[in-house]
Amino acid sequence: MQSALERPSSWTDPATSKRMARIRQRDTRPELVVRARLRQLGIHYRCNYSGLPGSPDIANKSKRWAVFVHGCFWHGHIGCSKATVPKRNRSFWLEKIRTNRRRDRRNENALRKVGFAVLVIWECETFKWARKPENDVPKAVSYFFRR
Ligand SMILES: [Zn+2]
Repeated sequence: MQSALERPSSWTDPATSKRMARIRQRDTRPELVVRARLRQLGIHYRCNYSGLPGSPDIANKSKRWAVFVHGCFWHGHIGCSKATVPKRNRSFWLEKIRTNRRRDRRNENALRKVGFAVLVIWECETFKWARKPENDVPKAVSYFFRR
């Protein structure tokens, strides 16, 4: 039997762990929930459009819509219990989140300027989606895709 010491070196290779981190980041659960729900609704999309401002999580270039699935903490979801700023280093976190929000706003505006409709779906909303029946999505979302 192989001991932990004999593990292939690629497991701990920095490039590999970096790649793994990226994969984890891309397939975050809230995003998976949204993607699954869009598939159920028969909405065609592509993921991680790096050529568009802010690399939207889900988008359709020819139909000109883009969706961001935002983590409540990192993107500063106002009034959300999942976006509580830690008391330790509070000013550091507040500034970091403010910067993220500014960047989000910039990206959304840049997309709208080139004719994209932009929808932001918050992580905490997707938790509610996950508990609902398959075709049940918030009105704002079904309205967005009805265009
Ligand atoms: Zn939230």
